[in-house]
Amino acid sequence: MRLLIMGPPGAGKGTQSLAIAEHYGIPAISTGDMFRAMRTSESELARHVRQIMADGGYIGDDITNAMVAERLDQPDAEPGFLLDGYPRTLVQVESLDKLLADHGHALDAVISLTADPDEIVARLTKRAEIEGREDDSEEAIRTRQQVYADQTSPLLEVYAERGLLVEVDGIGEVDEVRRRIFTALDTHQTPAAAH
Ligand code: ADP
Repeated sequence: MRLLIMGPPGAGKGTQSLAIAEHYGIPAISTGDMFRAMRTSESELARHVRQIMADGGYIGDDITNAMVAERLDQPDAEPGFLLDGYPRTLVQVESLDKLLADHGHALDAVISLTADPDEIVARLTKRAEIEGREDDSEEAIRTRQQVYADQTSPLLEVYAERGLLVEVDGIGEVDEVRRRIFTALDTHQTPAAAH
């Protein structure tokens, strides 16, 4: 299984992706987690990543693409993977396309978790109180929603045109949303399988 999960910040991608990855026995690869892990070192790159994340913007495509390419080269990702938070720009889509094509692979489905913006802001504000994530300030939350709408939501159309998009309502109990995702994936015909 080679899957992507997309959705606005706060739609619950992280929570769901762990369950999906476990179900299929594939690694869940979150670029947000990878960048958060990188932030704590004192390198020039770490400082750069820290600043951009705190502001709610996107890390540059070159850095992000290189990081993902290296991760997907690890043996555990050979049988499949679930990418959470990548690609986020059209340049990243092209990079992933090339990476997969070079290995003779293709995506099976792109899960799109949908959620109402008001619900999302409420969730993220609550998460900020519990986890203290520095990019969960109100200003950064608003920036991340806007950046998602501008740069990432157009990607949904790209994957829809390829017949890969599987839309799932992300509002509800965690278990309920997970069931919806599995039902949607089970009934989704991948373009390759349709032939
Ligand atoms: P959320 O979806 O809640 O915003 P993530 O954990 O997926 O959280 O990402 C947190 C931050 O990490 C993003 O706001 C961005 O700064 C950075 N980031 C994650 N993935 C990417 C990516 N593919 N391209 C650029 N920046 C990214």
